[in-house]
Amino acid sequence: MSTTSGRVKVAAQDGPRELDPHQWRGDFPILEKKVHDQPLIYFDNAATTQKPRQVLEAMEKLYAEHYANVHRGIHTLSEESTDRYEAARDTVCRLLGGVSREEVIFTCGTTEAINLVARSWGDQNVSQGDEILISEMEHHANIVPWQQLAERTGATVRWIPISDDGMLDQEACGSMLSSRTKLVAITAVSNVLGTINPIKQIIDAAHANDALVLVDAAQSVPHAPTDLQSWNADFVAFGGHKMLGPTGIGVLYGKRQLLDAMPPCLGGGGMIRRVRKEGFEPADLPDKFEAGTPPFVEAIGLATAIEYLQQVGMQSIAAYEQQLAKLAMERLSAIEGVRIFGPGATDRAGIISFQIDGVHAHDVAQILDRFSIAVRAGHHCAMPLHLRLQVPATARASFYFYNTSEEVEKLGVAIEETQKVFRKK
Ligand code: PMP
Repeated sequence: MSTTSGRVKVAAQDGPRELDPHQWRGDFPILEKKVHDQPLIYFDNAATTQKPRQVLEAMEKLYAEHYANVHRGIHTLSEESTDRYEAARDTVCRLLGGVSREEVIFTCGTTEAINLVARSWGDQNVSQGDEILISEMEHHANIVPWQQLAERTGATVRWIPISDDGMLDQEACGSMLSSRTKLVAITAVSNVLGTINPIKQIIDAAHANDALVLVDAAQSVPHAPTDLQSWNADFVAFGGHKMLGPTGIGVLYGKRQLLDAMPPCLGGGGMIRRVRKEGFEPADLPDKFEAGTPPFVEAIGLATAIEYLQQVGMQSIAAYEQQLAKLAMERLSAIEGVRIFGPGATDRAGIISFQIDGVHAHDVAQILDRFSIAVRAGHHCAMPLHLRLQVPATARASFYFYNTSEEVEKLGVAIEETQKVFRKK
């Protein structure tokens, strides 16, 4: 069994390689699907990503050949499931640059991971008069748990402003940090603007003020190398389904001394060392935060997804998606009447939210669907950001490494056709 404690070694990261999406597309059964008689163009990757055969097969194999509940059984099948579950944790440790197994908690998603910190660390450490800093570009998953914490404790949530072009106002962030700041909760990449935030600088500034930092890495871990030792983040949350893995699995990374001091969030089986009528004694990390039957098949699916991504190469994925975003920015900004939100291509990941003059974002998405192009429309769970941008809704195209430049060109053409439809009306 691989359940020993301690740091997990990582192999040296490969440099970026030229990425050919056609080398990988064949692994994704859904990319062969036709929508309205045309090949599907899937540009909704910020919401969730498609799954390669390898992930689907790994989960099916687990159910077909090794399936039994983890940790509690002495029998062979239970050991086989447990071994694979704990090996999945090792895979996550390696992805994050070699963190310790005790620092990796499996959750059911990014949202649960952030809520865990708000409940467990927050209730223990935050009180009346304290401040939590979040930015104007956060997803609701990194807003509401802090608002709820503020309601419970009398603390205040303060908003780090962004500039009109969607960049974090670092100067304002620096001046808002004070002895009252307990935590900065910030996204690494905006799920609407695609903005890549300067996480290391934010963490250094927060630490200089004795504040902790939680990074919402839902949109960064799937798309670029993550080296937590260089970030020195206190908490990091991300999920499996945005990185080729299944739904129902996510990860909370937390520094060991912080997690050690935090009370368990959920109570139940698996998270205890012993239970008596008088009370209970929690288990050691990471079990302390994994009450009940964990999503172990999903964790194994996630580990297979991570291995797949590492084969493609995280650096290559980041470089390729930036190229696609640049191409899309050039193509879309050349169309009169299209407004793109967020920064220029150099500060942006593969996410582009836009508006077509005179056309509601929902209509844009509906018409693009007729061209078999899947984009999302709405507030993308970032209502305060849309209020800041003074738009009720945007359409969002978001890329992954299996998308192609030909698909980006088709998006440009479909947007032009959308404009024609509305001009006729
Ligand atoms: N944070 C960000 C930046 C996101 O994009 C998302 C998903 N849209 C989440 C948090 C929440 O992820 P989940 O719904 O998988 O918990």
